[in-house]
Parts: sequence; C-alpha cells; structure tokens
Amino acid sequence: MGENNASAMSTESQLTRLGLFDAKVPRYTSYPTAPHFNASVDDGDFAGWIDQIEPGSQISLYIHVPFCRRLCWFCACRTQGTRSDSPVRAYLDTLKTEVAMLGRRLPSGVTLSRLHWGGGTPTLLAPDMMKELTETIFEAAPLHETGEFSVEIDPNEIDEARLDVLAAAGMNRASIGIQDFDPQIQSVIGRIQSYDVTRDAVDMIRSRGINSLNADILYGLPHQSNERIAESVQKLMSLSPDRVALYGYAHVPWMARRQSMIPAEALPTPEARLKLYETAKELFLWDGYREIGIDHFARPDDGLARALDAGTLRRNFQGYTDDTAPALIGLGASSISKFPQGYAQNLSGTSDYTARIRDGRFATGRGHVFTPEDNMRSRMIEQLMCEFRISTAEITETFGISKGELNRMFQDVADHFAGFVELTNDGLVIPEHGKPLTRMIARDFDAYDLSKAGHSSAI
Ligand code: SF4
Repeated sequence: MGENNASAMSTESQLTRLGLFDAKVPRYTSYPTAPHFNASVDDGDFAGWIDQIEPGSQISLYIHVPFCRRLCWFCACRTQGTRSDSPVRAYLDTLKTEVAMLGRRLPSGVTLSRLHWGGGTPTLLAPDMMKELTETIFEAAPLHETGEFSVEIDPNEIDEARLDVLAAAGMNRASIGIQDFDPQIQSVIGRIQSYDVTRDAVDMIRSRGINSLNADILYGLPHQSNERIAESVQKLMSLSPDRVALYGYAHVPWMARRQSMIPAEALPTPEARLKLYETAKELFLWDGYREIGIDHFARPDDGLARALDAGTLRRNFQGYTDDTAPALIGLGASSISKFPQGYAQNLSGTSDYTARIRDGRFATGRGHVFTPEDNMRSRMIEQLMCEFRISTAEITETFGISKGELNRMFQDVADHFAGFVELTNDGLVIPEHGKPLTRMIARDFDAYDLSKAGHSSAI
C-alpha cells in the first residue's frame, strides 16, 4: 500500500472515530434549527417584525409553491402531487392575498434585493398565474435595480410561454435540479429527466437573456459509482452552470415515506459517499470552479465567489447566499421568515394556511425569538459553514464575550476534534483534511438538545 493510501486510510478511520459516518447532524441553514421552533411566535410577532423593517431598505422574499405534477421517490420535500390546476389556482389566490397583506404592512420604499420562487415546482403555474403573481409581488415591493429574481425550474415542467412571462417580469437567475444523469439511477429514484430535456431547458432559459444558472446534483444515490458521478458531473459542466450545489442524498424513509420505494441495499456505504463527494469536487475544481462552503461550487466571477473573498458569504434556508438583507420573508404554506428578532414559520398544511389568510391574518404558526446567545452562536456556526473558521476579533467585538471565555469554548472543541481543528491567534480554523467534519464541529457550538431532531448524515 502506498504512503498516500495509508494516510488516506488513517484519516478515514479517524473521521469514522469522530462519528462522521453515522452522525445525525443538522445542515445548519438556520440556528437554532427548525425542530426547535415553537408556538411562542405568532402572527402578531410577524406583523410587529415587519413594522420594524427600515423604510427604504431592501428585503429578501421567498415564495413557496408546494405542488408537483408527480412525486419523485427520492425527494423529501413536503409537496402535493396534482394533475389538475384547480388546487393550484386556489392556492395561488391565497398566496396573492398574503402578498398583498405584506405589501400593505411593509414600511414605505422597501424594495426586494432577492425574490426566489421555490417548491415543489413553481414552474407548474400556468403563464397567466405566473403573470398575476409577479404583478402582485411587484406591487407589494418592487425588485431593487440590482435585485435578483430566481426561480426553481423543473426541465420537465417548463415551456416557451412560461419562460416568456418570467423573463418579461425580470427573472435573471434560474435554478435547475438534476440529481444524476444516469438512466438507471433516475429510474430507481423515480425521477426521469434526460440530459437532452435538461439541455433544451437551459437553451430556452439562456435564449431569453437569463444568463445566471444554478444547478443541484446529488451524491450518495443508489447504484452511484465514482465513474457514474464523474460522467454526470462532466455532462453538467457542459451546461456551464455558474453555481452548483452538490448535496448528499439523505435516506430517511421514516420521515419521507415515498423514499421506501428506493432499495436501501443499493445505497453506497458512508465511506463510498465520501469518495463520491471527493470525485465530484475534484472535477469541479479542475474545471475552474471555486469551492464555496461545505457543498457549493461557483465560477470565480459568480456572486458567491466574490462574497467569499469579501467575507460577506452568508448561509440561509436556500444554502449559501451573497444577499445581506437583514430580513428574509417567506410566504406560502410552511415558509420560514428570518428577521433580526427571530424566525417565523407559516402553518404547514395548505388548508390551515388558507383558512388563516382568509381570516385576514398572517399565517405564522411557530418560530423562535433570538436571545443574545443565539445570535453569537448562530454567527459562529455560520462562519464555520461559510469560511471554515471563527474569528475571535469579530465575535468578541460584536457580541461582547471575553477573549478568555471564547478561547475556552474553542479549546473544548479542539480537544474533541484533535487534529481536525487548529487554534490560531485569530481564532479557530478547520484545515483542509477536517472539512468533512464541519457540520460535526459546528454541532459543538450548538447549545440546543439535538436528540429530538431527525437530521441527516454528516456526509
Ligand atoms: S424533486 Fe421536484 S418535482 Fe420531484 S417531488 Fe421533489 S419538488 Fe417535486
């Protein structure tokens, strides 16, 4: 066995010893994580937090469309399958009412730094529905001149007419989900989407001047091998996305029942998952992408890469963002908003959500009010997830914790992850070989009881 193999083996066995392969750890797109939200936050808090938005400032807006034409087996999204447009139309009417309520409540002069439509499948809205929704949104708050309007596009569920409406409304970033291009893998995960269909969708998008493209791809799928993921990544790179999210497939059939259609025995082992990730990562780096946080890659001129260099990269419910707006408002069933004061999540069931909006009230069902300690831990975790380090100077200056107390926290974590965490004059750093442990290390800064939350594997 060569020296490199031997050292790879020993790193792998140490990662295993630290619990990498069997740990259930959050993805830390929020802190505290959503299972810790509770009913102490209601629509009155939500309205009060909107009132405190600075007049003339920019906010982010997320719009949720929880419908799909078919339900893919691998997908753990909370979404309803529907062949007919009537439930979608009814939902849209409620959503427009909610958007208009927000518009009436927002302080004057507020504009959107980001508008994102996600789901589900927002592109199953018919063209006239899309037009009504964009008009209602921009009446409530116009897109800022430097704002970004992005939509999750399902290549199986898009056409010229719908893209014409979106382009005319100012959409300037598209997000497409790919998973894997291998036909056997697609059939086993219950999601058929050929390379040709995907490429045609990308061509249609670009021909309308929508030049920014995000793509999601998955590792850890059944029957995935290093060769197969390499082929999928190469096909993906031929579409030249600006940003790629490389997510690990989380097999949690006890939470997402349709995943029980997927043969567990065909899933790669945790060690193989790590190799699949590394194989894909090497290809992206080789092609000139920058590594962004734990699972994203971006072209060097993309906003995420620039934000990483400027120290303004942030983490939110959509993964990584270069948006620095202080408030992200989520509308639609189950959507989560983040304000400087805390989180507010809408009721999840479409009928509960609809009933509340019809009642003339915002649909907040639960949330969390930040404590000063939450704010400090949240920023430490965000720094780890974005930059693989925590800056002593930033944390002591911003949150008033003493250097000695912070150093004691760092020392405990360094003892727990000996060899995978380094302490320097300016704080704590995760070196390259420790990066697969980032979520595990972040968990050491989490003050909440994680045993009640069903999180996904660390890798
Ligand atoms: S992958 Fe997309 S289309 Fe499939 S169920 Fe999930 S949200 Fe719906």
